[in-house]
Amino acid sequence: MEILTVGHPVLRKKAKPVRHINQSVRDLLDRMLRTMYAADGVGLAAPQVGVSKRIIVLDVGEGPVELVNPEITHAEGEQVGTEGCLSVPGKAGEVRRAKTVRVTGLDRNGHRVWLEGNDLFARAMQHEIDHLDGILYTDRAERVWDVPPETALRIVFMGTPEFAVPILEGLVAAGCEPVAVVTQPEKPRGRGLEPRPSPVKVAALACGLKVLEPERVRDNPGFLEELRGLRPHVIVTAAYGRILPKEVLDLPRLGCFNVHPSLLPRYRGAAPIHRALMNGDAVTGVTIVHMSEEMDAGDIVLQQEVAIDPDEDRGALEARLAAIGAELMLRTLRLLVTEGLPRRPQDPRLVTYAPRVGREEERIDWDRPAQEVVNRIRARSPRPGAHTVIDGAPLKILQAAAIAGLLAGQPGEVVEVRPGEGFVVAARDGAVLVRTVQPAGGRVMPAAAYLNGRRLAVGALLG
Ligand code: ZN
Repeated sequence: MEILTVGHPVLRKKAKPVRHINQSVRDLLDRMLRTMYAADGVGLAAPQVGVSKRIIVLDVGEGPVELVNPEITHAEGEQVGTEGCLSVPGKAGEVRRAKTVRVTGLDRNGHRVWLEGNDLFARAMQHEIDHLDGILYTDRAERVWDVPPETALRIVFMGTPEFAVPILEGLVAAGCEPVAVVTQPEKPRGRGLEPRPSPVKVAALACGLKVLEPERVRDNPGFLEELRGLRPHVIVTAAYGRILPKEVLDLPRLGCFNVHPSLLPRYRGAAPIHRALMNGDAVTGVTIVHMSEEMDAGDIVLQQEVAIDPDEDRGALEARLAAIGAELMLRTLRLLVTEGLPRRPQDPRLVTYAPRVGREEERIDWDRPAQEVVNRIRARSPRPGAHTVIDGAPLKILQAAAIAGLLAGQPGEVVEVRPGEGFVVAARDGAVLVRTVQPAGGRVMPAAAYLNGRRLAVGALLG
């Protein structure tokens, strides 16, 4: 049914009581419920669909309630909260209501029923019964404000690591609070390898959001059922860490969108920021894609280029890309509910991949050009760090810079100690000034402080 909006005179008329409950009233109840659910409303009164009769339906999450000729017989207490109305689109307001109400009316068979409830139930009852008297919540609101259209979306957010956190928090801050957050289950993380929640879980719980942690998303009917029950319009993903199967991608009616920190089609895969830094790229970016079954291969919605600072490490670049990703995702959702989304297929000739970084790549190979050594260190900072070996003990190097000039020495040899600054190690060509290190079992420290504690002499060999 069409929902009438503010300005239509029937919304301001006092509705007439129903004299006989017959099949046409029952049909109207069915159609009103379907209309309410389709519009994601909590309640609907007959005048809102152009029928000036005293009939309401509502569902505050505890199943449908239908009432004919409803009346509030008792109201007590007070609550102040935010309300919206399907007949007043694009607005919300703060309304003072009774906290608890008792209501009587007739059910679809003409039997008298009595209901009692508080909080959201009481608020919805008062709101819907007001409609029957030609009153809109805006008449009672202490203040009314505009609501961006994207905040009406039912969003399921899927993400796992630190990168995804600013994107989730960006949605919440903009009023696009997800109906649920899906993240990978607790697993051993960090140095102690204790099972720890994912960064996204921690952030979601801090925002008071519902969290789901399925062991797997493929061939998992229980998860699929739960997801369907959330009735998402869209799924937003950011580094969730698993490929979503078709049955999940097909579920939200407005689509699934992923934030990927590269200029797709470059660097599809798990480690795009790593690879961009390791390769010494001067430019990267963030892309929002329509998700498809093939990883990171969907059509492009929005894309933004980002220059990489030559000294930037992964932590700093990742934080910047995540902040840009949060903005682009909000623009995507706004476009989705307003003028529609752009769609640009990826050029298959430009596809490159960014596979996960392997164990052997964590070690510094001094027999490489100096800038390449430095890029590998940047790609692994501040965590987990690129490592080398000194006197048989591991040493992580977290900050370093390539320095020009020819210095005699074999790759890995300490060729100069610079008090207060660090030490210089020869690479295949040029040399690397090591600025920040972390010895095995120790804390992160300036290389100068590390030097103070030991006699690191020119001629020592790393690696
Ligand atoms: Zn309403």
